[in-house]
Amino acid sequence: MSTERTLVLVKPDGVARGLTGTVLARIEAKGYTIAELKQVHATRELLEEHYAEHVGKPFFEPLVEFMLSGPVVAAVFEGQRVIEGFRSLAGTTEPTTAAPGTIRGDFGRDWGLKVQQNLVHGSDSAESAEREIGIWFA
Ligand code: GDP
Ligand code: MG
Repeated sequence: MSTERTLVLVKPDGVARGLTGTVLARIEAKGYTIAELKQVHATRELLEEHYAEHVGKPFFEPLVEFMLSGPVVAAVFEGQRVIEGFRSLAGTTEPTTAAPGTIRGDFGRDWGLKVQQNLVHGSDSAESAEREIGIWFA
């Protein structure tokens, strides 16, 4: 298995809560390497491209509004099986029930808002990773 790359985002809730360093440190501590890193305030156009698969779903508009609510930290991490490895480290989508020990499970919960504020994004396949890296690091 050759080295893979994945796109990681620390979402606006993670940045606002001062968890950027903690999140990045956990990924590095698992053994993955930072290849690219920047803080950016996304645009609607960028987010509509990034979340193209979710256009039309009931949570799409709240998701875009949430992602526009503050800066995000975008990173490319590298390593063998980093795509699966980071998804495992992040935990399942719903933070309230994500397993303890995961980023979402340890630091997230429901806040009564219209979208899951779950701290991080990670690409879900090699194809998604290359597509998303191209969007955030054009
Ligand atoms: P992920 O790959 O685990 O991030 O989940 P998805 O790709 O399915 O969804 C993208 C993002 O949309 C999630 O990380 C959540 O922030 C949000 N989201 C997904 N599904 C739901 C849902 O059913 N309800 C709400 N309110 N938000 C959701
Ligand atoms: Mg996803």
